[in-house]
Amino acid sequence: MKELLQLSAARLWEALEEGELSAAEAVGAYLDRIDEVNPNIHAYLTVREEVMDEAREVDRRRAAGEELPLLAGVPVAIKDNLSTRGVRTTCASRMLENYVPPYDATVVEKLRDAGALQLGKTNLDEFAMGSSSENSYFGPTRNPWDLRRVPGGSSSGSAAAVAAGLAPWALGSDTGGSIRQPASFCGIVGLKPTYGRVSRWGLVAFASSLDQVGPLTRDVRDCALLLEVISGQDDRDATSAAVAVPRYQDYLGKGVRGLVAGVPKEYFGPGVDPGVRWVVEAAIAALGREGVRVEEVSLPHSEYALSTYYIVAPAEASANLARYDGVRYGFRAAGAENEDLVTFYSRNRSQGFGAEVKRRIMLGTYVLSAGYYDAYYLKAQKVRSLLRRDFEEAFQTCDFLVGPTSPTVAFPLGERSDDPWSMYLADVLTVPVNLVGVPALSLPVGLSAGLPVGLQIIGKPFDEGTLLRVGRAVEELGLFKPVVVGGA
Ligand code: GLN
Repeated sequence: MKELLQLSAARLWEALEEGELSAAEAVGAYLDRIDEVNPNIHAYLTVREEVMDEAREVDRRRAAGEELPLLAGVPVAIKDNLSTRGVRTTCASRMLENYVPPYDATVVEKLRDAGALQLGKTNLDEFAMGSSSENSYFGPTRNPWDLRRVPGGSSSGSAAAVAAGLAPWALGSDTGGSIRQPASFCGIVGLKPTYGRVSRWGLVAFASSLDQVGPLTRDVRDCALLLEVISGQDDRDATSAAVAVPRYQDYLGKGVRGLVAGVPKEYFGPGVDPGVRWVVEAAIAALGREGVRVEEVSLPHSEYALSTYYIVAPAEASANLARYDGVRYGFRAAGAENEDLVTFYSRNRSQGFGAEVKRRIMLGTYVLSAGYYDAYYLKAQKVRSLLRRDFEEAFQTCDFLVGPTSPTVAFPLGERSDDPWSMYLADVLTVPVNLVGVPALSLPVGLSAGLPVGLQIIGKPFDEGTLLRVGRAVEELGLFKPVVVGGA
């Protein structure tokens, strides 16, 4: 049983295909593991018990010799800010506690069409705002490596589920690091695709110019496979790009000799924990020994990225979250309908949203308001252009950039929850990528103080292939042994 839970999704698929294993056995093993471990880790908000019937149906069709789609019978976990038809989608908010969407997100539909089976919906920081899961209305997820620590966020449940053997792989979303930082904290692989690579239709909007959906997996091959399944242009998302989707798996195993890596000197500043720096530098040196030419580069506007993000993201969030008024769906405060309209809205919204979401709405409304717009929002947009230029410059000479994903390893629960600024600092190395729109991969390359450290590999627009190629080469160095962690 334990061995089954260690399999990558691709290996699991092979085992199903070869008939070594039935879908019902695989799904049953995962459901048992969830029963045993989820009460401690709290990775899932909703477990779909009907998945067992779906698994039996796959087995029946396979036995009948029917042609099955690519991922038939492979289980997957879905972050609870992706719309799932008929399955509660809460965004870990009281506002949507009982919301059941009438439609699937495009990525969910693609997985369903590929035959993957949804195990359930995973915990997150409310509306994906946070870096620790402590902003979930339903209580935090715990890091399977150490239950007293945060799993990172906001794709907390997806990362913890994959690390703890509660799902072979999962979908997350990344607006400022929400796939990469929890992947780093939980010792798994996570990829934020190029803006426009993956459809955002049905992803509950946080900051629409930054949001992307992406994979959280145990290894790079799974990451390539899942990315391939969810990518592509979608008429329902005007920002999805009409760029052909390559066979990402073809990039694996090509080696890295001759590639040029840029190491941004700003990503090794004083805030970066010495243990993290040591592990990351060792990984970069190992890439050098594999024939990568390693060069120092500069992204001179990096120091402004965090402040820029915390203007742009709340501004967009304040507009996106205006729709939650308690009129047609979502939380409605008791007796609110007996009040005047303004009181009705304000009761619903002040009781339905948590503290961090309200903080973002206030920040965002402020930076967009007359008199402050030029000073904050417009200026932030200008800095965004400068950041873009920094990256373009670096990519003139480099095939990819490499540095830490997060300045620290997983921190203790409660350590930062009362201090928004120290929580925001956790995002300092991940937000530039979203502001610029380029893709980035995080993969584990070692331990510091017994906790995983992620290497962040940043690529040119739509060059996820190179990230996966480099990621696979790093994985083959064996700096980190993937394990399923966290007992009952
Ligand atoms: N931690 C960042 C924030 O709080 C990023 C969140 C995300 O990527 N969804 O905004």
